[in-house]
Amino acid sequence: MDEGTFLEWSLKAAEWGATYRASLRDRPVRAQTSPGEIARQLPDAPPQNGEAMETIFADFEKIVVPGMTHWQHPRFFAYFPANAAPVSVVAEYLVTAMAAQCMLWQTSPAATELETRVLDWLRQAIGLPEGFAGVIQDSASSATLSAVLVMREKALAWNGNTAGLAANPQLRVYCSSQVHTSIDRAIWVSGIGEDNLKRVPVSGPMRGMDVGALEKAIIADRDAGYLPAGIIACTGGTSTGACDDIGAIAEIAQRHGLYLHVDAAWAGAAMICEEFRDLWPGIEKADSIVFNPHKWLGAQFDCSAHFVRSAEDLVRTLAIQPEYLKTHGKNGVINYSEWTVPLGRRFRALKLWFLLRFHGLDGLKAMIRNHVAWAQKLAKRLAAEPDFELVTEPVLSLFSFRHRGGGDADSHNIALVNAINDDGRIYLTQTRVDDRIAIRFQAGQFDMTEADADAAFEVIVEMARGLGRRA
Ligand SMILES: *Cc1c(COP(=O)(O)O)cnc(C)c1O
Repeated sequence: MDEGTFLEWSLKAAEWGATYRASLRDRPVRAQTSPGEIARQLPDAPPQNGEAMETIFADFEKIVVPGMTHWQHPRFFAYFPANAAPVSVVAEYLVTAMAAQCMLWQTSPAATELETRVLDWLRQAIGLPEGFAGVIQDSASSATLSAVLVMREKALAWNGNTAGLAANPQLRVYCSSQVHTSIDRAIWVSGIGEDNLKRVPVSGPMRGMDVGALEKAIIADRDAGYLPAGIIACTGGTSTGACDDIGAIAEIAQRHGLYLHVDAAWAGAAMICEEFRDLWPGIEKADSIVFNPHKWLGAQFDCSAHFVRSAEDLVRTLAIQPEYLKTHGKNGVINYSEWTVPLGRRFRALKLWFLLRFHGLDGLKAMIRNHVAWAQKLAKRLAAEPDFELVTEPVLSLFSFRHRGGGDADSHNIALVNAINDDGRIYLTQTRVDDRIAIRFQAGQFDMTEADADAAFEVIVEMARGLGRRA
C-alpha cells in the first residue's frame, strides 16, 4: 500500500469510526444475527489476487458490521462494560501506526517509562500506598495467572519452575464460590489443579468468604500434609458484585505466610472515588491486585492494571534472560516482559496517558458516580413495580432482579432476557444466584445518560408485560 492510499484509507477509517459512534443509539445493541449467517457470506478459499480497498471496505460494512454486538452502545447493560473512550481510540490509532514491540526498555524506552509513570498515577488514583509497583497486562486472566505462579513459587521455595510440581508437596489455594472462572484457569495452567482450589463458603449480603471457615480450611490442610500457598479474594465478583473482607483475609494470609491476590477486575475502577473504598478495606495489605481500566474506566481493550507489593517476586518467577534479550550497560532499567507471561507487548500505556489527561480524575469520577446513582435509582424503581423483585441489592452499579410470571420462574426469566435482547433497544445478561436464574443489570457505558437508564426501565417493564400477555 503506497503512502497516499494509506493516508486515504486511514482517514476513511477514522471518519467511519466517528460516524459509527454517533449512530449507536439507532442500532440494536446485541447483534440480531443467527449462527452461520456471517460465515455463509465469506468465500471458502483465500483470494489468489489482491482486491481493491473499495471492495474490501464495502464488504466490511455489508458483512461484518451487521454481525457486531455494539459494546460502545450507551444502552449496553450486559456483562461488564468494555469502554473505549474516544480519546483512547485516538491513542490506539497512533500505537497501531507505530506498532512497536515494547517487551524491553530498549525496544521502546518511551513505552516503558510512560507505563511506569501512568501506573503510578493509577496507583495513587485508587488509593494504594507507595511501594506498590504496576504493570499493564493484556487481561485480568493473565494477571491472575502471574499471581498464582508467584504464590506457587514462593510456597515451593522457588523450585517449582525447575523441579516441577511432581517433586514437591501438594499445594492448596483458597477462594470463595464467587470468583471469576479466570481463577480456575490460572489454577489449571499453573499445574496446581482444580482439586486443590478450595472454595470457602460465603455469607452475608456482600457474599464474602466466611473468614473463620477460611482459616479452619488452611489449618486442616496443613495438618493433612498439604502446602497452603495463597488466597484469591475478590472485590466486585462477576455474578452479583460479591466483595470479600480484604482486611480480615489479609490478616489470615499474614498469620499463615500465604500470598494474597485480589481480583477487582471490574470494581477496581470505582476506587478512584474515595467513597467506594469501603468495599476493599485493608487492600494495602494485599500482595497483588488486578483491575481492568479496559472495563469501566474507558481505556480501550486491552489494558489490565496489575499492582504488586514485590516486583522482585514477580520477576523472579517469570523472567528469563537469554543473551539476545539482555540490555547491556543499562542497569536498573525495567524490562516489562519479565513481569508477564507473554514476551511481546503492545504499547498500552499511551491510551491510559491520553485518557487520564483528557478527562482528568474528576471527569472519570463523575462518570462512575453517575452510573452508580442511576443504577441504584433503577433498582428502586423496578423493586417498586408489581411482579418484580430485586435478587441482589446494587453493589456499585450492578444489581440483579427477577420477574414473577406464570410457570417455571427460571424459564420465565430466561424468556424475558431473550425477549429484551431480541427487541434490541437494550442488552442484559442473566446469572445464577443461589441456583436460581436472575437478570443482571450494570450501568457503565462511557456515553450513557440518565435517559438511557429510564429507557432501560421502560423496555424491561414493557417486555415483561408483553410476555405475561403471550403466556
Ligand atoms: C472481567 C473479569 C475478569 C476477566 O477479565 P479479563 O481481563 O477478560 O481476563 C476477571 N475477574 C472479574 C471479577 C471480572 O469482572
